[in-house]
This record gives sequence, structure tokens and C-alpha cells, in this order.
Amino acid sequence: MLASTPLYAPLKAVLVPLDQVPDPVFAQQTMGPGIALEPLESQLFAPCDGEIVHLARTHHALTLKTDQGCDLLIHLGLDTVDLEGEGITVHVAPGDRVHRGDLLWEFDADLLACRALSLITPLVVTSNDRWRCELMDAPVGRVIERGAELMMLVATSQASPTGKEGGGNNEYREQVTLALAAGLHARPAARLRAIARAHGCTLVLERGEHQADAASLTALMGLSLRHGDTLDVIARGADAAAALGEAAALLTTPEAVEDDPAHDESADDRADTVPTGDDTTCHGLMASPGLAVGPLIRFGRSRIEINADREEDAEATERALVQAINTLNDTLATDIEQARHQGRREEADILEAHQAWLDDPALREESLAYIRAGRSAAFAWREVLESRINELRRSQSQLLAARADDLRDLQERLVALLVPEAAALGHIEIAPGAIVMFEEITPSQLLALDRVSPAGLCLAGGGTTSHVALLARARGLPCLAAMGAELVEVMDRQDGSDVILDADRGSLIFKPAPDQLIEARESVEQNRIRAAAEQQMAHESARTIDDVPIEVCANVAGQEEARAAFDAGADGIGLMRSEFLFMAHAQAPDQQTQRRSYQQALDAMGAHRVIIRTLDVGADKQLDYLSLPSVPNPALGTRGVRLMARHQALLDVQLRALLEVRPLDRLRIMVPMVCDAAELVAVRERIEALAGEMNLDGRPELGAMIEVPAAAVCADQIARVADFLSIGTNDLTQYTLAMDREDPDLAGRADVLHPAVLRLIDLTVKGAASHRCPVGVCGAAAGDPQGWAALVALGVDELSVEPARVAAVKAGIRRLDRAALARALRGWLDEPIDSVTLRQRLEQWLNETTANNNDRGAPDDAI
Ligand code: PEP
Ligand code: MG
Repeated sequence: MLASTPLYAPLKAVLVPLDQVPDPVFAQQTMGPGIALEPLESQLFAPCDGEIVHLARTHHALTLKTDQGCDLLIHLGLDTVDLEGEGITVHVAPGDRVHRGDLLWEFDADLLACRALSLITPLVVTSNDRWRCELMDAPVGRVIERGAELMMLVATSQASPTGKEGGGNNEYREQVTLALAAGLHARPAARLRAIARAHGCTLVLERGEHQADAASLTALMGLSLRHGDTLDVIARGADAAAALGEAAALLTTPEAVEDDPAHDESADDRADTVPTGDDTTCHGLMASPGLAVGPLIRFGRSRIEINADREEDAEATERALVQAINTLNDTLATDIEQARHQGRREEADILEAHQAWLDDPALREESLAYIRAGRSAAFAWREVLESRINELRRSQSQLLAARADDLRDLQERLVALLVPEAAALGHIEIAPGAIVMFEEITPSQLLALDRVSPAGLCLAGGGTTSHVALLARARGLPCLAAMGAELVEVMDRQDGSDVILDADRGSLIFKPAPDQLIEARESVEQNRIRAAAEQQMAHESARTIDDVPIEVCANVAGQEEARAAFDAGADGIGLMRSEFLFMAHAQAPDQQTQRRSYQQALDAMGAHRVIIRTLDVGADKQLDYLSLPSVPNPALGTRGVRLMARHQALLDVQLRALLEVRPLDRLRIMVPMVCDAAELVAVRERIEALAGEMNLDGRPELGAMIEVPAAAVCADQIARVADFLSIGTNDLTQYTLAMDREDPDLAGRADVLHPAVLRLIDLTVKGAASHRCPVGVCGAAAGDPQGWAALVALGVDELSVEPARVAAVKAGIRRLDRAALARALRGWLDEPIDSVTLRQRLEQWLNETTANNNDRGAPDDAI
């Protein structure tokens, strides 16, 4: 018999369906199902009996584990984390048992209403893999009295009342080949652990004689798994099959480029090629590009002496350690939430990995063993972490070695909590605008540096794939890594005088001549002025100097990014990848959910047009709930529009949702992976039928993606039945060159500037022109430093790029003489030429040409 338990309204409130909560994390049920309440009183009581298992440091959220083992998150208001507890009085603490009707919170409703996003309070079942909630006949939108029945929590499987993982006798095993280009690094390891937890299972990875439980990040990383390694995944527990499926998918799906620490070229290769310095310059690897001038300051971080032996009994010392771990965990949770809210995704991912390390039972157990043997908590933690740090540093993999900084971070932060003097020494006193040298830097020290706005970073250690490098890039902070003994020597001699950090060239000039300093300062200033000017002009439309208008739109994953695109100055959305909405849900989102998301994207874009692509899954993009047949080469299988033709009902729901969006004349629907005109005609007929059923007068424009060579060759035929075309250069390059876009070994060669790809783009533009059909580009080439110019020279009308690139691409267009470049390009492509040479020529041409070149040429004869 499966358990169930009622929940009672914790206060008098108006009921709000979760999907109407103005926060996508709740509305999209990312944390789980539930209901939300708009409070009509300012005290909130326990909705059932249970135990408080978590309370946020800022007291705005808590998790109550019901006596039946269901975790219920109660989040008081939205964005209340920023209040840092102001206006909130909490009456319980972690570990407290509470009974239904016990007071949990009192809050200043006026203050919360004014200072937070909303008072709406979601109640969410976070153990939703084992529990679902059934709403009572709740009068949604109407008032519910405190104590009235709100909903029923119903177990979907035998839930373990203790919440212990790994129950049930099921065991499943699957052999997989690791597809993660960078091997099993901290972030996917943290995700594996999350999968095990979500399913209440034990997940074990086995390679040869070595096994690692996913509960322990150090054990997982200790397997040193690399791309291409074969291993067994074993899942045990009631929900083992689902956990195994998710784990296997995670391990066998290559990461998105921006998630992949290995995508930053081959750091291992480049490490060997760092030139040695002379007595005025030292060198390193470019971890983040840019040029900076400023005083060179050493960030000294001497470690304080801590008492090796404990002063209190073992129990008190153990409690102190556990307490410090919990405090750090809460701090990390708050920081993660803030980072996610503010769109700092990389930072949130890194902190999540830290949280997973912190929760590693092996680290905790070993520390407790030290304490039992008479050691202090700080000493125990430092010793255990030190041995792991050394193991990672000795690792063959530069990527794993780079993770040592992350462990050092956890080591320092916890010691700082246990020994307050350590925290004081961690304080950074650096003047703004300095170039800061580190022997070692942890990610949280880099985040703390934000307060002093340094101009650049030089690291003796680290690598281009470290989390520090990733954070530096996200901040646009020039950074050199792996500078080694050369830098340490400079550190000993530095006197705070000005240096030049030229990260693009991998050099730190620490004794610059006066004229070098003047020149570098001028360049820094010019770069700053240029970026500011570009930003100022970002909202203006862009025309080439020979007066060809080019629209610069943005690619977005969802409605939230559309707002960022609008702020960045995008002339529209050139590609909204609707598959991300589908991937964010455990089941296909219903028509209403889809309509809301599409409408929000349109609303965010003012008067601009928005291109929404119909669901593009298959190959590298999979949906758990849409099982696709396993075929030898999924990239050539049933994907994109081919898949939708088979899943007509899925397509119909999406098309209906799109047709409900207003105004329809600002919406363009785009169909992926089209091979011929008939495929587009079939979708248009479906739109006609549905629009007829819906009694609609208007119709949105309909376009095709050109990302298969066949479509490029037949572009004239497709253009005849399309309102617009958009070239997907990512897939077009992959299919033209027969080079997998996910294969890191081929990444350097799978270049859109290959003459074959450019010829297909030329064919597309000419085919479209014969039917006056506009052509855009939404693949990555549109934002590529040389690619965008070649595309404009070939005659495309629109480029769709990352929001952050909009200003720079518009500025480039305004400096470009399109006709002159079209002539030059035709000349280069008349010779046998490879993409490397073509890229060099384009770069040189773009650098040399001036705005005075007014030569005009015909757009259609570029090749
Ligand atoms: C492309 O293929 O260029 C494209 C834009 O689509 P995606 O990258 O989503 O496959
Ligand atoms: Mg594509």
C-alpha cells in the first residue's frame, strides 16, 4: 500500500497555480510540483507533521520532511533571498520536529511586498521522483482559510520514511563509452550524484577493478575517466532503471561547447609550447583574452598555524565540523540561487560542484576519524583535503589537476569557518586596476576580487580549463595561467610598478619601456572607448558603408534570454530553440505552457520580429519522454522535421500554441532540417488546417532552415514555398565536410570557411534571390570574427548571434565595404584555398580596409 498524507493550508491565502508563479524555476516545475499561495496574513504555520531538514541561511526558505519521508520546500515569497533575512522571523531550526499548526514564520508583509519580487509563496514537493501531489478541489484563484485541506501527497513508489537512498533490490548495469570530451570532471560528476539522489538510488561507476560511488565526488574523480573510456554504470534501488537511463545519457552525451572545459583548445598541447621569458617578459597560457596595464601586485595568502590537537572532546569537535559543513553548504546554496537568478550560469555550476564535493561522505568520514584520534576539526579537514589535492595535482590529466584549486577553495573556506583568524587572513586588500599575481587562486577568491575590480590576473599555476579561467572569461578579465617559476621569481622582485599584461599574446611585460607603456595604455583606452561606443550604437540598425542594411538578431534558448537580447540591442530573435523548453520538462509541455513561453519571447522584443523554431530533437539533442529508435548514426537519422512528421500530435500542439501568440505578424515559424520543398509544404498545410479550425485571419510567416547540403542545392525550390530561409551553418558545415560537430579532434578543421561550405551558402543566397526570399544565418558563423563578414559579402540579409555579440557585430558591419569584400572573396575563392588561409586573408583584409573604401559591387556575383 503506497503512503499518502494530506497537507493543510499553512495560512489564509489566495491559491495560485504553480505555473503562474512569476519565476520560471517554480513555474516550470524545475524543483518539483506543488502549489503557491499569495498570503493574506503574516504568520505561516506547519502544513503537516515532520522535521525541518533545511533552513536557508537567509531564513527565506525551509524544507520540511513529512513523517512519511516526502520533502516539501516552502519558499516564503520570491527573490526574498536578497533581503538577507530582513523582515522575516523564523521560529524553527534545522532538526526541529514540528506538528501541523506550529508557527514556522512571522514576516513583515509590507516590507516583503515592497522589497521582494512577490509575496507569492510556493510549496513544492522536491522528492518528486517518489511523490506526487493531488490538489484538493482547491478553488484556484480564490481564498483558502488557514487549516483547510490543501492537497494530498501520494507516494508513487515505496518511499523510504528515513529518506535513505538505495532502497529496493533492483540492480541494473549498462556498459557505456564516455563521450564527455573533457573526461569525467567535477560538473558532470556532480550531476551524476544529483541523479542518484533524485531517484533515491545508489549509482556506481566501475572501470576494471576500480569502483566509485556517485555519492563521493572524490571517488568519481579518482577513477580519472577520460573521453572514450569504457565503463560500467550500476544502479541499485527501487527506481534504478530510470536512474541508470539518466546516468548513461549524461555520460554518453557530449557536452554543449560552452559547458565543456575541454573546448578551449588543447591546453595540454599548449602547455608544452609556452615560450620561456627573458628578463623583462614572462609568458603563460591565455586563460582569458585582453590587454591590461596596471601596477603588479602579489596576492599573498599565507596559511595560518592551526592547532593540530583538539581542545574539546571528540563529540563537541565533531559537532563543530558538521556545523561548519552545514553552514558552508547553506552559504553555497544561497550563492547558487543568487547566481542563477542573476543569470551567472557558469558561476552557479561551479558552486554546485563545490556543494557536491562538500557533501562527499568519504571526506566527512575521514575527517571524523582524525577527530576521534585526537585532532582538531580544522586540522582534520585540512589534512584530508590536502591528500586529495595532492592526488589531483599528480594526475596525468591537466583538467583534473586544475580541479585541485576547487578543493583548495573548500579547504580554505571551511577552515575559515572553524578558525576565525583564517577568515581574517583571507581578506584581500588590492587597489582597483591592479594586475594581480597568484601562486594559487581559488574560484571563491576570484569572486571576492570582484569587489576591487582588478585589471588582470597572472597565475603561476592553473590552466586554461580551470574554473578560475572560466570565471575570468565570463568577466572579460584578461588572465594568463601556468606561468610557473618565471612568475614566482617576478613575485619576489615586484615593487608595485606598472606592467603590461597582453593575454592575447601570452605575455606579461614586467619592465616595460616608457614608450611601450604609453602605447599599451592608449590601446587599452581605445578598446574601452570602442566597446562603450559599440554598446551605445547597439540599438541602432546597422548598414555597411556601401549602404546595405543587415539585421543583427539574437539566438536565444528561451523567453528569459529574449529580454537580454532586447537589452543588448538585437533587431529581433533570429532563432529561438524551442527544444530547450521541451528539455526543461519531464513531459512534453502542454499547449498553454508553450504558448506562454512563446508569447513572453514576443513581449520581450518590443516591436521586433521573433523566429521560433519548431522542435529540433534527435542526434545530440534527446528528450527522455520521446524515445527514439537507436540507429547506427543518429545525426543521419530521424531528426528535426523528419521526426515531427512522425509525431504529428506533438507538432500540432506546438503549432496551435504558436498560432495563439499575438500579434501573429511579429511571429515567424522556422522548420529545422528541411531537405526539400515538400517537407515545408507539409508543415504549411498543417498550419493552414489548424488556423482554419481556430478561425484565424492572419498567418505567421513560415521559413526553412538550410542546414543540410541537399537544401542548399535546392534552395531555389525551397525559397519558392518559403517566406524566409535561415542558414544553420553548424549543421551545414558538419554535413558538408562529413565532420561530426561534436568531435573535439575535428573541431579545428570543421570550419565554415571551407570553400565547399561557402559555395553552398552562395548557392542558397542566389536560389533565394530568384524568389525574393530573404536569407539569414543563425549558426555560430554569424558571430565568428571573420565568418560574419564572409556571410555579409556573400549577400545574406540577417545575422543572428549570441546577445553579447550584437554590439560588436553591428559595429563591424558599419565599418565594412560589402562590395569590396565580395570582390576580394571571389578572387580568393578562385584559387585553391583552405579555410586556414582564407581566415588569415579575411582577418588581414578586415584589419587593413578603411571606411574610405567606397567601391561598390554587385551582391550576387560574389563567387
Ligand atoms: C545550426 O545547425 O547551425 C543551427 C543553428 O541549429 P543547431 O545548432 O541548433 O543545430
Ligand atoms: Mg542545426
